[in-house]
Amino acid sequence: MFIRKLMFIVAAIILFLPGYTAFGVGNHAIADASSSSLALFPEPEQHFKNKNGDHAQKNVDRPKNVIFMVGDGMGLGQMEIARLFEHGKNGRLFMESLPNVALAHTYSDDNMVTDSAAGGTALATGEKTNNGMISVSPDKKEMASILKKFKQDGRQVGVISTNKVTDATPAAFTACVPNRWEGQSEIARQQLAGDIDVILGGGSQYFKPENQDGVDLIGKFKEKGYSFATNRTEMAEANGNKLLGLFHPDNMNFTVDRAEVKSEEPTLKEMTAKGIEVLSKGNNGFFMMVEGARIDHASHAADLTSVWKETIEFDQSVKYATEWAKENGDTLVVVLADHETMGISATEAMDIEALKKIGVSHEFMANQLKKVDRSNEYSAESIRNVFKTYADIDITEDEIRQFNENVKDKRGKVYPTRQVGWEIGSIIANHYHGGTLNSPTRSLSSTGGHTGNLVPVFAYGAGSEKFEGVLDNVDIPKIIAKLMGYEL
Ligand SMILES: [Zn+2]
Repeated sequence: MFIRKLMFIVAAIILFLPGYTAFGVGNHAIADASSSSLALFPEPEQHFKNKNGDHAQKNVDRPKNVIFMVGDGMGLGQMEIARLFEHGKNGRLFMESLPNVALAHTYSDDNMVTDSAAGGTALATGEKTNNGMISVSPDKKEMASILKKFKQDGRQVGVISTNKVTDATPAAFTACVPNRWEGQSEIARQQLAGDIDVILGGGSQYFKPENQDGVDLIGKFKEKGYSFATNRTEMAEANGNKLLGLFHPDNMNFTVDRAEVKSEEPTLKEMTAKGIEVLSKGNNGFFMMVEGARIDHASHAADLTSVWKETIEFDQSVKYATEWAKENGDTLVVVLADHETMGISATEAMDIEALKKIGVSHEFMANQLKKVDRSNEYSAESIRNVFKTYADIDITEDEIRQFNENVKDKRGKVYPTRQVGWEIGSIIANHYHGGTLNSPTRSLSSTGGHTGNLVPVFAYGAGSEKFEGVLDNVDIPKIIAKLMGYEL
């Protein structure tokens, strides 16, 4: 409209200008007007040509499919560690190549620092809530997620995570419960009732009769027509339009531990590919949430080796999804984090080569520690061995004493293995000068060391130009809803 009006005004002026031939000058002026309008409003389609050079996007603003990818805890520091370790200082992560970039604030309703439940809720529903709450308001009213809007509109929907599929991020898109820790069996039931077409990840324990008042929830999924997979081979062979894949009772394994534990789990990239394969069978389009969950877990443990491996695994999944979107068109890919964890940063003093040589996660190391008989202490010998074997560190007597103190709560009880791994990580990060919050600061945090740092948002495809500037996490699903014409 604006351009047409401009052309009309220019033409009108030319007609009334004496001493010029209206025809020649008019043409010239119009050409100028249109080229300057091109500079002001670059044609968005030019970024989105498919392999034949055709315009893949018929309607650039309204995506048919949305692939929503969450690097849990993935701040700029985590990205920088992954980039340096994997590609060197001149290299790039794939996600850095996406054309539209924004930053987002992540605070929750009751805290300047969010946990993954309130963070996931903001990204799923466009509303802030309290830490620990899954898609309910602070006064416990249920809130609709963007995924559910797609479902109501007759589209396919799916959630994929390397965490338990009943944990915060996938839960926020598929369920509503007031307490993330107590609600996981309920979340699994709501995923069945909500007809979520693809569910892939860990957390099989919450679908088993022992956590479902004797009900075989997996059997109920099968009755509803779902294929069921427990490992990567079964997932590859699964047919049909609905798929439940549960590959671990708890979190899926850290990438770095796969060889050591002889894992038969699919990778995040394989799950992403399968999710797209199943969901794209429907003709109406789909919404798929993919979470690289263990970037957060590695960050909690100040485990820069796993921050690297998990972020690269996530980046490869982003690459797969974006390339699929390039081939197929009408797809919006949004890549972002729900919050940052542990203030991870790439310091100049960090010993990259030593950190790259560590072959297992800190959680795996914690599992190798041995307690002194009838005592609450890990033996000095086992501590010494673990640090030497897996991290090539000669730990001092002082550090051993400090470690045994740090792994106990106020009443002297030793933390669960995961948190013991956090303390191992703090010693390793300190030894190799990795940038991270220290152990005392983490222990004062109700989120185990999350920070309020701005997080990155990247977007590609239909409507991606709407993701610009400094946003708030609640803006993100609202932008998608607006593109789709949904009320959120
Ligand atoms: Zn976390």
